[in-house]
Amino acid sequence: MRFDIVTLFPAIFDGYLSQGLLEKAIQRELVDVQRHNLRDWAPDTPHRPVDDKPFGGGPGMLIQVEPTVRCVEDVQAMETSSPPGSTRRIVLTPQGKRFDQPMAEEFATSQRLMLLCGRYEGFDQRVMDILQPEEVSVGDFVLNGGEVAAMVIIDAVVRLLPGVLGDEQSNIDDSFSRGNRLLEFPQYTRPREFRGHKVPDVLLGGNHAAIAKWRAEQSHQRTLQRRSDLLGDQTDNNPSK
Ligand code: SAM
Repeated sequence: MRFDIVTLFPAIFDGYLSQGLLEKAIQRELVDVQRHNLRDWAPDTPHRPVDDKPFGGGPGMLIQVEPTVRCVEDVQAMETSSPPGSTRRIVLTPQGKRFDQPMAEEFATSQRLMLLCGRYEGFDQRVMDILQPEEVSVGDFVLNGGEVAAMVIIDAVVRLLPGVLGDEQSNIDDSFSRGNRLLEFPQYTRPREFRGHKVPDVLLGGNHAAIAKWRAEQSHQRTLQRRSDLLGDQTDNNPSK
């Protein structure tokens, strides 16, 4: 799978792409992450501006339509093995559809994702009108730029790609995964006891059926306590049941 990140700050991704699972996935050619500096599409003047004041006034600056559209079109043409229709263009914006696990699972089936990171007050509206991207938000808060949001999306998608995780089972049990509307059960590792806090006996007994039952109960209980919205009509305390 290929990611193309359009950003004014490509170096932000240096550390992230050179560590852990991402680094390994790139080395093993399971993913290809290309960064494109939007400023390379700016007019060839000393400051290479890509932003300007909003018409009608107001604070801040907006990223201009011309360099952005030209950049996206050029980046699209850089990789010709995937047909244009197979690239999903995503603009990161707090005004977009909320990113979640089902969306990550859907993105993981794509050949290519292009992620446009905004800065300042965001993009000129005509970027959206002309490119017709999907608009995606990582939550109801405002970040300084789309780079961290792009990392969130790449991170969530890459761990779903075949071969990326050492143990494929680990993302099946994950909270929210594959239609699973439950949070994951609590997990423990050594030591068996620390400051009087013991690992539950059931996990030490080697009875796999009992462990699976305990985990299913814990998942349900935890979801009920923390995120009963995920359970919908299945909640034990649903008065309509
Ligand atoms: N003026 C914009 C608004 O109110 O919708 C916010 C601009 S924000 C300061 C600058 C950039 O950060 C945005 O263009 C977007 O790319 C990114 N960004 C901020 N919050 C985000 C979020 N919750 N999800 C995704 N991207 C976000």
